[in-house]
Amino acid sequence: MTDKAKNTDILSMTREELTDFVEAMGVPSFRANQLWGWMYKGARIEEMTNLPESFRKILAQQVLYALPTVAKKQVSSIDGTVKLLFRLYDGQHVESVVMFYEHGISICISSQAGCRMGCKFCASTLHGKDRDLLPSEMLGQIVVAQREIGQRISGVVMMGIGEPLDNYDNVLRFLHLVSAPDGLNIGARHISLSTCGLVDKIRMLQQENLQITLSISLHACDDQKRSAIMPVNNRWNIQTLLTACSDYFKATGRRISFEYTLIAGVNDSAEDALKLSKLLTRYMGNMPIHVNLIPVNPVAERGFNRSAAKSVEEFKNLLISQRINATVRRKLGADIDASCGQLRHQKREEEGS
Ligand code: SAH
Repeated sequence: MTDKAKNTDILSMTREELTDFVEAMGVPSFRANQLWGWMYKGARIEEMTNLPESFRKILAQQVLYALPTVAKKQVSSIDGTVKLLFRLYDGQHVESVVMFYEHGISICISSQAGCRMGCKFCASTLHGKDRDLLPSEMLGQIVVAQREIGQRISGVVMMGIGEPLDNYDNVLRFLHLVSAPDGLNIGARHISLSTCGLVDKIRMLQQENLQITLSISLHACDDQKRSAIMPVNNRWNIQTLLTACSDYFKATGRRISFEYTLIAGVNDSAEDALKLSKLLTRYMGNMPIHVNLIPVNPVAERGFNRSAAKSVEEFKNLLISQRINATVRRKLGADIDASCGQLRHQKREEEGS
């Protein structure tokens, strides 16, 4: 993207920045309020009917309005979960999943097109990272999904394609914009951010003092095993990561949750469960510990298998016996391949890229 396009990325602007931008074009500032309202409804420029045609023409020609378009939509006949494949302004694709809960509607969004973290079980990283998403493209997934379902989304999980902390500045701006009361109005307490463990960025995030929930993808409890499935562990090992988590909790008072993907024969034994509980208690003992167990979604190219239901249950019960609050991730959208990265991957294969 050229710098010019980046400087005109209107949905990545705060309301004040948008007002300055509109005024600099010689257009009265109340037009910025109208434009802001339309953007957060997911309107296309030609639908912004109360803006003068001359202004709409300028917008169409001179700004980047990075609302994604829906390339594919799948709705689960089991639980209504909606999976959206989005096309970005430059032809890249990312995915979001909309989940309906009793307490409200949540969306799982992507933060990068692809990923360069290289986790061995993950579909998103098969072809590396193409690019970071703009703040507008993260907001855009929510805005367009709301328009698709005709209902308000009240929670966000950053667990789609990409490593959010590898796109730190854009993600931080997104987190700021998403809470705008006259925009999406989704407060930090309704946002979870999941990371594979970029310790330098976790320490930076700690300084921001946000009320979001940080989730750590741990997936193994000794360095040898973790490095074998998550290359990031060669850079920051378990001790370094959990020390950063402990410091983060002490400084912010915000609980951290842990994700643990269960892979048959790799990390799902009773010994693993006991090691995991000891490890977490040692580092995080001053915090109520929650572990979210995710039976691995097999990705054809990866060759990992899901643990048997019985081992998953046993693993969970062992953690609970060690006073760790463990839950198994509810499988939503089982009939639509709702795990992230798979639709984007299919699309690449179809396009032969
Ligand atoms: N980059 C972030 C977000 C990734 S996706 C992170 O690593 O946390 C969210 C979660 O799904 C992560 O815990 C990730 O490790 C896990 N995951 C990725 N591929 C998976 C698969 N095939 N089966 C089960 N969980 C998977």
